[in-house]
Amino acid sequence: MQNEILPVVIIGCGPAGVSASIFLSKQSIKHIVLERQKFPRDKICGDGFSGKTCFVLRKANTAYLDEIFEQKEDYLPTHGIRFSAPNSKFIDIPFPVVDHIKSKALGFTAKRIVFDDFMFRKAKTTSANIIENATVNSIIKNESGYSIHYHLPDRKELIINCSMIIGADGDKGISKKVLMKQNVLNRSAAIGLRAYYKNVKPLPNTNFIELHFLKEVLPGYFWIFPLPNGDANVGIGMDAAIARKKKVNLRESMLHAININPLIKDRFTNAVLTDKIYGWGLPTNDDAALISGDNFLLTGDAASLIDPFTGEGIGNALYSGMLAAEVAGKAIFANKFDATFLKAHYDDVLYKKIGHELQLSKTMQKLINYPWLMNFIINKSYKSISLQNTISSMFTDLDLRAHLKKPSFYWNILMNK
Ligand SMILES: Cc1cc2nc3c(=O)[nH]c(=O)nc-3n(C[C@H](O)[C@H](O)[C@H](O)COP(=O)(O)OP(=O)(O)OC[C@H]3O[C@@H](n4cnc5c(N)ncnc54)[C@H](O)[C@@H]3O)c2cc1C
Repeated sequence: MQNEILPVVIIGCGPAGVSASIFLSKQSIKHIVLERQKFPRDKICGDGFSGKTCFVLRKANTAYLDEIFEQKEDYLPTHGIRFSAPNSKFIDIPFPVVDHIKSKALGFTAKRIVFDDFMFRKAKTTSANIIENATVNSIIKNESGYSIHYHLPDRKELIINCSMIIGADGDKGISKKVLMKQNVLNRSAAIGLRAYYKNVKPLPNTNFIELHFLKEVLPGYFWIFPLPNGDANVGIGMDAAIARKKKVNLRESMLHAININPLIKDRFTNAVLTDKIYGWGLPTNDDAALISGDNFLLTGDAASLIDPFTGEGIGNALYSGMLAAEVAGKAIFANKFDATFLKAHYDDVLYKKIGHELQLSKTMQKLINYPWLMNFIINKSYKSISLQNTISSMFTDLDLRAHLKKPSFYWNILMNK
């Protein structure tokens, strides 16, 4: 193994790594995936899966989504979203019915321990050698690419040489630290907490996810994502710099809101916390930072691709993994692994696809700093079906979402246009 040079090694087997592996296997490219943990493994998350996740799953295999929607005890289809403003007014927005999905929901919720294990099992192919319990502890550049040093639980160090690394080891992984030396990608990170509850009183509109901009948790947001079997993923997210500056104790803020907020406290009367409350970082990247270089590509959280407004990162992790596999195929075919080639085929293509969306979300994130503006929009949309429909369409239509940047959007709402 030590003298062999593999074309590609993937570090990490979360959504980004698993997607890269599945799409490399589709091209019959042999590769190794090194994963620190053993599946099934948990990941702190809101457990909400958007339309982008469904898009990549359909590209991977048209049967995957059918399998998912059939497993009703593990997956819950999402049919809409409830938004509430700091003044406790809320709107329920059903997701638009998207033609190509036919009767399927636009997204779903599921515990990550379940979904990630489902994907891990799908990635097991003759082209993929997935090594669990393998922790990468150093990545060293050499003439032909990289040598990757990793150890198994017996602490014995092993080395693999490869032409190219796909870094998919998340926010706290080694790829980002070593390959992007100044760690520029971590600047605008947010932080979040996840708590699993049972028996949170559900909404009358079944299967809506809920984003609450409660005054008790501003400038953060609080979510309730219903899960199968009467479970719910409850959490809070906030810009990390603000949380540090204001010395916010996120756990206390979240529990305080659950205990006193008039909109939600009654729904927690019989609720039981079923697990510890865990926290984790949400790395965001709204300035199209470089995420490739000589002999490497970064994907998912390792590339800080989380949407700064919604906190969604699974869709972009899967999408970037898919693209990274395609680019690896091109690089192997052309025998070109240099930074210029990889940037042109990876960064430029990825940001063309999702850069605009990330920037818009950054703008929307700023809305959280103006509670009066959120109150105003929710108040108005409470009374206007057409405004509710506009907001609903913003989930799938980026051109519509771009209106949020224009003063005329707010002016038209004010004038009831
Ligand atoms: C509180 C919270 C709520 C969130 N809610 C949502 C949500 O509802 N919807 C959504 O879409 N996104 C959400 N996200 C974001 C989402 O969790 C991430 O964007 C997503 O997990 C990124 O996938 P990934 O594959 O890039 O990284 P990860 O899922 O973190 O996977 C990385 C993998 O790399 C492995 N690894 C790490 N270091 C090493 C190493 N040295 N050697 C080998 N392997 C290693 C890890 O064990 C892990 O399996 C949330 C995040 C947080 C923190």
